[in-house]
Amino acid sequence: MTPRPPTRILDGERPKRIVVNPISCKGHGLCAELLPEMIRLDDWGYPIIDPSPVPPHLEAHLKRAIAACPTLALLVADATE
Ligand code: SF4
Repeated sequence: MTPRPPTRILDGERPKRIVVNPISCKGHGLCAELLPEMIRLDDWGYPIIDPSPVPPHLEAHLKRAIAACPTLALLVADATE
């Protein structure tokens, strides 16, 4: 089966991992402020993502970070694909 493309919609059905579109991301760093448990910044302010599935207790924070990203670069993909 073809993996589904990353999306901004967190449906809560299957474990998700965080993905950043490196072309859209402008290094604003908001995502790391809103989800420091899974996102930290490199020396230039670009996100370094924890590749683990997002634990359920952090999903609300992830939704907020996705909504806050000014360039729509923060996405989720199915962690099982
Ligand atoms: S908030 Fe969006 S643009 Fe800013 S660093 Fe995070 S992914 Fe990149």
